[in-house]
Parts: sequence; structure tokens; C-alpha cells
Amino acid sequence: MADFDLDLFVIGGGSGGVRAARIAAGYGARVMVAEEYRLGGTCVIRGCVPKKLLVYASHVHHEIEDAAGYGWTIPSASFDWPTLIANKDKEIARLEGAYTSNLDKSGARIVKARAVFEDPHTLRLSTGETVRAKHILIATGAAPSHGAAIPGIEHVISSNEVFHLPVQPRRILIQGGGYIALEFACIFAGLGSEVTVVYRGDNILRGFDEDVRKHVRTEMEKAGIRILTGCTVSRVDRQGEAFAATLSSGASIVSDQVMFAIGRHANVAGLGLEAAGVALNPNNGGIAVDGHSQTSVPHIYAVGDVTHRVNLTPVAIREGHAFADTVFGNRPTRVDHADIPTAVFTQPEVGTVGLTEAEARAQYSHVDIYKADFRPMKATLSGRDTRVLMKLVVDGLTDRVLGCHIVGPEAGEMIQLVGVAVKLKATKADFDATVAVHPTAAEELVTMRTPFARHVRQAAE
Ligand code: FAD
Repeated sequence: MADFDLDLFVIGGGSGGVRAARIAAGYGARVMVAEEYRLGGTCVIRGCVPKKLLVYASHVHHEIEDAAGYGWTIPSASFDWPTLIANKDKEIARLEGAYTSNLDKSGARIVKARAVFEDPHTLRLSTGETVRAKHILIATGAAPSHGAAIPGIEHVISSNEVFHLPVQPRRILIQGGGYIALEFACIFAGLGSEVTVVYRGDNILRGFDEDVRKHVRTEMEKAGIRILTGCTVSRVDRQGEAFAATLSSGASIVSDQVMFAIGRHANVAGLGLEAAGVALNPNNGGIAVDGHSQTSVPHIYAVGDVTHRVNLTPVAIREGHAFADTVFGNRPTRVDHADIPTAVFTQPEVGTVGLTEAEARAQYSHVDIYKADFRPMKATLSGRDTRVLMKLVVDGLTDRVLGCHIVGPEAGEMIQLVGVAVKLKATKADFDATVAVHPTAAEELVTMRTPFARHVRQAAE
């Protein structure tokens, strides 16, 4: 193909793009990756990784509070936000370096530039160069949406800026009820800020199991986070160094920072998709793809958040890998998007896999619910007022575990392993046959004997 400079051009050096580039290069393809910001993408630079580091920082505060009950005297702990941010930045720079060198070693060429389509095979780089590629992978990710252009929207920050605040806000208002909003609410509350969450729906964590939603809200409120549902921020005014947010309910809340985490949109603007003939999915604004991540143009593929399927790092990585196997490895591979385990790093954490109770009851005629709600052992001596929730959703006819939902410490770690069992189509009897690990919280998962509820749907006449 003398006509092409490359076998593969990847737009976007994030989770999906980097994995696809490395695997394709490993198959011998001539690959170039364009990244307009920093290699590693959202996850590494301003998503999962820096967020988890901040979560750890706020956990330390809880450990210090819990210490007294275990006999420790900690004179006077103090916290320094700039130190945390500087250390976090150092670690992110190290990871960015690791991503760069691994990609380099794979043989893919990295170009620090924005790339846009000029025609279906040609990309124009912000360096002025144009390249022609036989295949193109769009892995441009997503970006925070701010919603309607309310008065004062210019004062509002998103998850992009929150990682670089020069000072810790003493008071912060966060609009949003999804995982990013709630994780930051818990981070700031743990670090000692006064936090208000504003969410337009009737309860936080839409799409999660109802018991999880209630449990997380109760736990966050017990931790002192104010959660206002059924309202939105309608304007933000500067008040000296602070900001006054007016809510649709008429209330006004003064804080030092206002952050919106109300959703993310696929990074497709200005990409030249029309010039390439690539179609969007009218339902979500992401790039429309089939099960092999192929777009409406056969030699152009798209993976990760830009396709708005399941917006999680491990999913983007799998989709990138499957694309490279399919197109360059002669191994057509589809990513299975069912039963993806996931965590929300609120405090306490959420771990969830499979169907919620409501989803199961809509799809199955017989659904058994097993539930445990208990005080974790660690909280006994510390005196912390917190409870753990464990819930199994079981098909009453086949005994298969359809879903598992956990709220409590290390729920993210637990759900990774429960995810294996659910993927293997384990039954409740398999859980029961597994000997408990004692004393742990996770042992509840294999010791819940009596259904909390049995739902039987009568067949329609
Ligand atoms: P990205 O990682 O976003 O990479 C896309 C890259 O393309 C970016 O680097 C961008 O600069 C670049 N780009 C865009 N347009 C162009 C262009 N025209 N030319 C060149 N480069 C371009 N997921 C989890 O699984 N667990 C978590 O705990 C988690 N926490 C998160 C926390 C936050 C605050 C956020 C925002 C996200 C979080 N996510 C988490 C989601 C996760 O980060 C994404 O699902 C993942 O990064 C998607 O990977 P991607 O490759 O599709 O896109």
C-alpha cells in the first residue's frame, strides 16, 4: 500500500488508543498515535488515577479519627493541600513517562499534536503535517459537560480543574448525582471541607440499585455532606473571594468553589467527522459503532468514551485491544459488555456487578433477594457510625446470581472477585458452598441463607 504512510493512525493517546496502538504495533503494523494534551488520557492525567490518590488522602483522615478507639493518641494532625497536589502531580508525571516509554518500545510513533480528518484516509496534524493511513482509530474520549449556559457559568469548575486547585476550598458546592460528583464530595468532606451536593433527580446514583442509592446517601449524610435533591443551580455570582449559587428552589448557598459534574460528552467536535463520513449515534452523540467497534466507514474504528458505550477505563482498554486483534491480528474479537463489575469510590465505597433488583424483576419472573445490613467490625472499637450493605439478586428459577451490590470498605476490591463468579454464571448454591473467610465483611456474601424477599411475577393472562 505505497499510497499510505501508515497502517494505523490512532487519534487520542488515552486508555483505548494506547492499548490499540501497542497491540497493533506488536502485530507489525506501522502505527502513529496523536495526543493533543498528555499521554495517558483522562484516566491517568485527570480521572481514575489522580482521583484515587485523593481518595486515599481523605481516608487518612478517617484512620486518624478512628485511631483513638484503638488506643492511639495522635496529637494534632494537620493537612496540607498543596503538598498532596504536588505529590499527586509527581506521580502522574511518572505514569505519563511510563506510558510514553512503553508506547515507544512497542514501535508506535507518538506525535504531540491535535489530529483532524481532512478526508476519510487523511489526517491533518496541528504541527502542519498531513498523514495518510490505511486504518484510523478514533479514541478521543469524552469531556465534562456544563449543561445550560446559566448566568455565572464561567465561575464553575469541572473535574478537569479540580485536580489543580491551588488551595483547598473550605466550602464546596458540587452539582451532580453521578459517581464523579459523589466521589469528589466524599474526598473534600474527608479532607475537612464543608460539602453541599445539588442534584436535580430524586436521589443520587441514578441507575444503581435502589438499596445502594439509599444506603450511600444515608452514609454520606451521616458524614456531614449536605445533599439537596430535586433542584439545580440556576446562577452563580461572585461574592468577594466566594461564590453564591442560587438554586431552582430559591435557596442561595455560599461556597469557595462551585463544581459541576453533571455528565460528559463524546469528544467529536471539530474532528472533521463529516469530511470522513463517520456517523454519530443519534441517541447519545457518540460515534456509532458495531460489535467490532467499526464505524459507518469500514476502515475507521472507534473505541472508548467517544463511543459512549460503557465509559470506564478497562472497557476502553478491552475495546482497543479487541480492535487491534480484529484488524491486525487476524482474530476477530467482540467485547462482551455484559456483567461489567465497577466501583464508586465514595466513602464508603460501592462495588456492583450485574442486574439491579429492579432490572432483574423486569426481566425474570422469579427473583430472590438476599440482603445484609450490618455494622463493620472495625467500627466497633472506633465508634464510627457506619453500616455495610451486601445484596445478592438471584434468579429464583435457576438459582443463578444475577447481580451483587456492596456498599462498604473495600467494596471495589470485593466486587472484582464476585465479578468472576457472576461471569461464570455461579448459582446461589455455589456461593453457599464456598467456605467463608473469617473474620471479614465479605463472608456475608457466602453466609446469607434466607431470602430477604421473593418476587414472583404472575404470567399475563
Ligand atoms: P481518554 O482516556 O479520555 O483519552 C482520549 C485522549 O484523546 C485524551 O488524552 C485527549 O487529549 C485526546 N484527544 C482528543 N481529541 C484529540 C484529537 N483531535 N487529536 C489528538 N488527541 C486528541 N473509569 C474507571 O474505570 N474507573 C474510575 O475510577 C474512573 N474514574 C474517573 C474519574 C474521573 C474524574 C473521570 C473524568 C473519569 C473517570 N473514569 C473512570 C473514566 C475513564 O477515565 C474513561 O472511561 C477512560 O479514560 C476512557 O478512555 P478513552 O481512551 O476512551 O479516552
